[in-house]
Amino acid sequence: AKTQVGVLFGGCSGEHEVSICSAQAIAKALTQGANADKYLVLPVYITKAGVWQFGDRAAQVLQSGEPSTDGDETAKPGDRLPAPQPLNDIDIWFPVLHGPNGEDGTIQGLLSLLQIPFVGSGVLGSAVGMDKIAMKTAFAQAGLPQVKYVAVTRAEVWSNPCVFPKLCDRIEEALGYPAFVKPANLGSSVGIAKVRSRQELEAALDSAASYDRRIIVEAGVEAREVECAVLGNDVPKASVVGEISFESDFYDYETKYSAGQADLMIPAPLPPEITRQIQEMAVQAFQAVDAAGISRVDFFYVEATGEIFLNEINTLPGFTQTSMYPMLWQASGISFDALVDQLVQFGLERSQPIS
Ligand code: ATP
Ligand code: MG
Ligand code: MG
Ligand code: MG
Repeated sequence: AKTQVGVLFGGCSGEHEVSICSAQAIAKALTQGANADKYLVLPVYITKAGVWQFGDRAAQVLQSGEPSTDGDETAKPGDRLPAPQPLNDIDIWFPVLHGPNGEDGTIQGLLSLLQIPFVGSGVLGSAVGMDKIAMKTAFAQAGLPQVKYVAVTRAEVWSNPCVFPKLCDRIEEALGYPAFVKPANLGSSVGIAKVRSRQELEAALDSAASYDRRIIVEAGVEAREVECAVLGNDVPKASVVGEISFESDFYDYETKYSAGQADLMIPAPLPPEITRQIQEMAVQAFQAVDAAGISRVDFFYVEATGEIFLNEINTLPGFTQTSMYPMLWQASGISFDALVDQLVQFGLERSQPIS
């Protein structure tokens, strides 16, 4: 019998649309070529309000690429949860959700409770990998090089008018300008600002606080941006390294998702020793947060000094035909279809009881 794969997509996050695109590519790969004899796809769509949709309604969103709001207005908490019946046919879940409520351990917790295998990191790896403050703490503990940063809470930004100027003083002293202000639990550069003055810092902190209770401010580096893909469970492998170049001020949402705004160079033109170090650090980053199956690790490379800074890990990276993660594996000798197959197999492997 074919393995029934529940492709879970959409989700209650700012990266809803990106998730639909990733899911379309993954569902297609699971149903063509050699995978067609092995897998059957059951699409399951989560609306922006968090309502689970099965069957024809989910298939319709996957096919059209258009988000649906069916049932959002009337949904009570109990209506959001998945109906038990359709879950029974699924052998393994493939969460193709980016950002909060999907990449962060919430879905992984639900699937763990249901005792159904799933692709990718578990609760711990997902949660630590999502929160940039927790992530950086884990990376620091593993001795991985990072830019200087200051962790901030919404309460420090909003609650007390006496605290705020002192907070800004502290950030300026520690990091200087330019600095990057980021909501701790997002992706696709949503809510991120590059700031060059006190005024911009204050505005960016206020804005980031509207996205997240937790905020991180980092020293800005002038550097090349390179990324490495990781695949596997307890013995993870690193792909070739890729580089992104763009004209915009930084790799923001628009640059990421508008055609022609960013160029990917795979493999990145780097000295072999730098490539090797990046690959080694990518695997160390994966293990530092306890990731599993899949991750993309992002770095800054300062050519003048030879310094490499680990920027972040993404435990459910973008997965369209033109996304960095599958393209890095393509260049490493694993086709898109074979990659999706391997990810499902790594998910099944993880759910095996210890013999
Ligand atoms: P992703 O879509 O990769 O998950 P994200 O929302 O998690 O992105 P980051 O990767 O942390 O965000 O940052 C987005 C971009 O902002 C980086 O690719 C880079 O262009 C710029 N950037 C972030 N932090 C810094 C920094 N400390 N110095 C220089 N540029 C930075
Ligand atoms: Mg990220
Ligand atoms: Mg992300
Ligand atoms: Mg990134």
